[in-house]
Amino acid sequence: MTLLTLTVLVLAQPPAAKAPELKAPPVVTPGAMGAMQPPPSDAVVLFDGSSLSGWATRDGKPAGWKVADGTMTCQPKTGDIVSSKTFGSAQIHVEFMTPVEQGEGQDRGNSGVYIHGRYEVQVLDSFKNETYPDGQCGAIYKQHVPLANACRPQGQWQTYDIIFHAATFEGGRKANNARATVLHNGVLIQDNAEITGPTGGAIGQDETPTGPLLLQEHGHAVRYRNVWYRPL
Ligand code: MG
Repeated sequence: MTLLTLTVLVLAQPPAAKAPELKAPPVVTPGAMGAMQPPPSDAVVLFDGSSLSGWATRDGKPAGWKVADGTMTCQPKTGDIVSSKTFGSAQIHVEFMTPVEQGEGQDRGNSGVYIHGRYEVQVLDSFKNETYPDGQCGAIYKQHVPLANACRPQGQWQTYDIIFHAATFEGGRKANNARATVLHNGVLIQDNAEITGPTGGAIGQDETPTGPLLLQEHGHAVRYRNVWYRPL
């Protein structure tokens, strides 16, 4: 091959497709947090504020998070916690509070709500804290930027209300991707978002009709309370 042919070949290559740059969503100030709403009568309660029974580490050891004052606080280096109960499609309610701490980007109030232990709705202190948009609070990690940044400042309770439709399977193969709608502090931030597969840090690369809820330990003392779901 002559140098000329090589040059022509190289120049003829289409430019590598560049992923479009993700834009941070608009900031929306949510309404003030009212009193905690107790779960509805048919909810399956995963954490009622009294104990970590019903939760374990990924490898089945006792969960190392700390329970006090009706809340549980993530203890750095103790690992993620996984619910013993599993569910398929569900309405999921989680309340969380990012800690009062310094740090920026992903290093501030990082945790995560992993539906089925596989799909992370990111928990992060994104109040006046920039990071990559598909990794900010409310992102379906690295798949969907939230439609709004509805974060409250650190040290305040926040809510996630998630309507999750599990992936469906036919003949052992996935027929439909999982989907999630998420309200953050009452603000719609994911609108029937299609989840193409497990996100980073999932408990498995397989997808399943049912799975647990996993709360991520990412080195930050994020608190949780009032965790429940209603099967759909
Ligand atoms: Mg996380």
